[in-house]
Amino acid sequence: MSELTHLSATESAERLATGDLTSVELVEAHLERIAAHDGVVADGDVWASREADDLVETDVHAYLHVTATAAREHAADVDRRRAAGERLGPLAGVPLALKDVLTMRGAPTTCGSRMLEGWEAPYDATVTRLLREADVVVLGKTNMDEFAMGSSTENSAYGPTRNPWDLGRVPGGSSGGSAAAVAGMLAPLSIGTDTGGSIRQPAALTGIVGAKPTYGTVSRHGLVAFASSLDQAGPFARTVEDAATLQTLIQQHDPRDSTSVREPVADVRATLRDGVEGLRIGVVRELQGEGYQPGVERVFAEALERYERLGAEIVEVSLPHVDYALAAYYLIAPSEASSNLARFDGVRYGQRVDAATAEEMNAATREAGFGPEVKRRIMIGTHALSSGYYDAYYLQASKVRTLIARDFAAAFEQADVLVSPTSPTVAFEVGALVDDPLAMYLNDVATVPASLAGIPALSLPAGTAEAPDVPGSALPVGLQVMAPLLRDELMYRAAWAFEQDLGFPPSPAGAHALEVSR
Ligand code: GLN
Repeated sequence: MSELTHLSATESAERLATGDLTSVELVEAHLERIAAHDGVVADGDVWASREADDLVETDVHAYLHVTATAAREHAADVDRRRAAGERLGPLAGVPLALKDVLTMRGAPTTCGSRMLEGWEAPYDATVTRLLREADVVVLGKTNMDEFAMGSSTENSAYGPTRNPWDLGRVPGGSSGGSAAAVAGMLAPLSIGTDTGGSIRQPAALTGIVGAKPTYGTVSRHGLVAFASSLDQAGPFARTVEDAATLQTLIQQHDPRDSTSVREPVADVRATLRDGVEGLRIGVVRELQGEGYQPGVERVFAEALERYERLGAEIVEVSLPHVDYALAAYYLIAPSEASSNLARFDGVRYGQRVDAATAEEMNAATREAGFGPEVKRRIMIGTHALSSGYYDAYYLQASKVRTLIARDFAAAFEQADVLVSPTSPTVAFEVGALVDDPLAMYLNDVATVPASLAGIPALSLPAGTAEAPDVPGSALPVGLQVMAPLLRDELMYRAAWAFEQDLGFPPSPAGAHALEVSR
């Protein structure tokens, strides 16, 4: 059975189309693997993950809830309709995992928080609806840092997700569950969200492809808000083509999202195989050097050589204000979060702790419902927006954001796409950075610039490097490709050419680590 879980989405779709494989078989193979490796209680219509204290080190814990019965029923329905000759979408019958920050009828949406434990949304997010309409079969909802705040998935109230390459290490975050599901062959595809890097950094640390589309091209309706001006959902997959196909299914104008763009977006599949001959690839001078592990720098240098060999023109570009990106992001994102998370007041959603007065009830609920990182962000954001500090913090950060967007616009005059390492380090050990928020925030140094500018950015596997603490180890390193606004097709094109030439094994090491851990 297990080789069915190792197929790419495109391979599965081809075999489904020829009748060589059924969606029910594909879904069963994944449910079997999830039951064996993910630390779930495989029982009932919706399988729940075990309590954090009951998880063991060999559990990936990618999923919080597995919608087993609904997935089986959807798969059977797709098989029936296919057999009846109905025309189906390109990924019909292929399973997928959904980050637990997107709402879905019939399943919990917890955002990795105790605040929303047991809460079920009465509606599907637009992304969820589009996937259903495309007959992609949702296997379940994935673990994440609480309200998407973090870079390791250790801020989940339900216990950390582990990296399938090395179960002692983190998968990155905040979409660590979605990334680990795909890297560990617990789903061929997943959806994550990226506010400051939460798709790209976990993709890099787990050796898979993850893309943040141009801001505003994927609807935020039903995506529980962290920082609304930055939040964007996007695809995870083991191949560039799979990610591109998945992106086309969710990228659509939506009147239910006031920031949804109306411009038609380019078909990212149409030019996928066009190659990089003559493409100008800009190396961002500021996104390398100090703070980047030597192994990461080596893989990045090799990536540039590869592009050159493939006929691309390498040019050096500068983003002069990018050194301020991290500081600006860590004011803007918490500011927006402090406002967005005000809705969790014990009245409208999820948990309530009763008390004598409404104000006390509100305070007690938030005290019990939010974890330490969420409280930290709310405090920082509230301070940055408060009268007397607003000009010095939030306003200043917003100005820096504009300068960074202009830097990118100028750089794209000289280059078609820009590249950098995705993350300054390979996956670190579970627990290594939990007590050092600033060190954790440094994970995002290369990803937040594109977030602030709203431009599309993707991470793909570029090779492996040794963990500095474990001689002889090999952990994935990601290459980030950034493109101008609404030019997502350029980054996919650059990524596809690289992937074909590199021939990076689609996470066999990730899958292998799980097999030997049993
Ligand atoms: N790691 C970043 C943060 O903690 C980004 C999170 C995200 O993109 N959701 O804010």
